[in-house]
Amino acid sequence: MEDLEENSTLVEKEPAVIKFAFRGLRKLDNEKWAATCRYCNNVLTDKYRTTSAFTRYISVITLVILMHN
Ligand SMILES: [Zn+2]
Repeated sequence: MEDLEENSTLVEKEPAVIKFAFRGLRKLDNEKWAATCRYCNNVLTDKYRTTSAFTRYISVITLVILMHN
């Protein structure tokens, strides 16, 4: 398994949508960044400065939570 913690820089200003469900947003290289899900510790990567994968993930977990209530 690829170690995403190594050789990466923490991003200080996390977009609110990422802050909501993720922690430890970090830049992997000039094209990618990654963050860890607060709920299940999944590590998600997305294109740098793009939040579409994070937003999609949040809508999926929100659906799962709603279905279990
Ligand atoms: Zn998760």
